[in-house]
Amino acid sequence: MNGSLAAHIIVLVCMGSSAPPAPPARVGPRVCELADDAASVALAARAEAALRFMSAHGLTPAGPVPVVAVGALSGEGATDRAVSVADAAAHGLGERWAGVPALLLEAPGPGSTSEDPEALLHELVHIWLRSRGAPEPAWATRVSKDEPGVIIATRESGVIEEALADFITASRSRSPVLYRASARPGTPARSVRGRGARCPEAFSGRPHADASVLSGALWDVVTRHGAEAHGILLTALAKVAPSHTHEVRALAKALTAELKRRAPKVARVWAKVVDERGLGRCQEPISLTLQRTFQSPLVQPVIPGKRGDTPMASLQRYEVQVSGSRTLSVGVRFDGQAPPNLRWDFVDARGRRVDASSSVLDAQTSSMASTRLAVPPRATRLLFRLSNPQSTPIAFDDIKVISVN
Ligand SMILES: [Zn+2]
Repeated sequence: MNGSLAAHIIVLVCMGSSAPPAPPARVGPRVCELADDAASVALAARAEAALRFMSAHGLTPAGPVPVVAVGALSGEGATDRAVSVADAAAHGLGERWAGVPALLLEAPGPGSTSEDPEALLHELVHIWLRSRGAPEPAWATRVSKDEPGVIIATRESGVIEEALADFITASRSRSPVLYRASARPGTPARSVRGRGARCPEAFSGRPHADASVLSGALWDVVTRHGAEAHGILLTALAKVAPSHTHEVRALAKALTAELKRRAPKVARVWAKVVDERGLGRCQEPISLTLQRTFQSPLVQPVIPGKRGDTPMASLQRYEVQVSGSRTLSVGVRFDGQAPPNLRWDFVDARGRRVDASSSVLDAQTSSMASTRLAVPPRATRLLFRLSNPQSTPIAFDDIKVISVN
């Protein structure tokens, strides 16, 4: 361990149950007694190596990073890998332990996140962002039974965190395809190539998938400039990322400025990629025209469910251009049964409802729902938003404006 890492003590506790870990009497090295010692030592070595890579590029977490391997994924729990312990931990389900950001991993074993150096580094990036003051992303941790593994976010913060974690991991591996060692059965390994993913069309509400808009852009720089760009991008991200986790376009702009100071050549490549990937337009709504169907180029769009009593809006907003005092019909096709009570509202740019307008989509056929809504007077460019009053997220295939009367 080098000097800069000495302050980052790894605490390793392996447990045999799913009960939350008791805080240790003091934060310090602790040898796991309940699990296999050799596996624990190997995990500590993997975590230290990941921290060394991060620190070499200025991505040093502030304070100690306890690594907690949880042996909960056996018996009944083992069959439900909808959300790994690691993801659950990094996404707000007990990511703080003994008062400091902690990295929770699955207990060592074949296919577990603690055996996968890439999964480990990915989660460490979340810890680094937390420890450097980046606010917790607005995760909706409700996970649908029908859609295992889907975590949704209502703001771009989740997209940015996942993109950074994926790109930093890919930089270490020098490979765009990641987490093969711990990929869930039947789930493709993740890639940072993000072929063709552009803002705002690529935003589906699922940060792990949507992240390829940003991670793909960073990877584009490497493929065009060469491997030297890995270190340059990481060092620049270390400087700007923790204070720019709210908006993709703000992060893209801050990174441009930082790269101009450090490596003007790389800055020029980045600026071109930002333009191609539409990163400056990430918040723009998706335009719909009459009878033209919008389909997400990446994955099925998801409308998040509610948290408490509040429906959570999707990342997506749709824009239609229509003159005022008319009626607009919109149809949405679902993958499977059309859900009841899906609402749509006209909203302003800040997401506030216009004219108390609101309508409930009626199921027309088993998989299609539509509604009609009066357009406010004088409106020409309207935003509308679909929202979902149930607690389970809803996936849909495509959306189209059927008619304007
Ligand atoms: Zn993550």
